Amino acid sequence: MLSIEQLLKATSPEVIRNIGRYHLDLAHTKIDSDEHGNHILIVAVVSGGEQPQKCSIRVFDKNINIKAGCFVYCSCKMFINKLEVALATQGSAKVINAAQKLPTKTNPKLLPGICPHLMVAIRASLLAEQQKQEQQKQQKVAPISPKLKKNR
Ligand SMILES: [Zn+2]
Repeated sequence: MLSIEQLLKATSPEVIRNIGRYHLDLAHTKIDSDEHGNHILIVAVVSGGEQPQKCSIRVFDKNINIKAGCFVYCSCKMFINKLEVALATQGSAKVINAAQKLPTKTNPKLLPGICPHLMVAIRASLLAEQQKQEQQKQQKVAPISPKLKKNR
């Protein structure tokens, strides 16, 4: 299984160049940990292309970080026609829509990578995790802790 870092690094320069066109639909985006705490599930809708696309990312760790292995899905054509089978061979996707057909024209070497929708969703999730951790840090150094108050 590929890590978030490996997926980001494998992404084509063309996707990165055009990333500004895409944005996360916050109303339809959710980050949840699974009930057993084995992975985090991110479900996101990303707009900006021909039509909004639905992505999902499973991060196999207690928090979202670039070293964590991840498993991805997107409903867009690029993912289905070029990336789904390639990522499945690396254990980071399941072949759902590509109908088990090898992308002989679009990605003959089966190079991994992610589409702009997944890129936007992953970046936003990493940022959200960072902000969450910073907030938690700030709460830990709150001005007067309840313990100190008791001792007075
Ligand atoms: Zn996509």
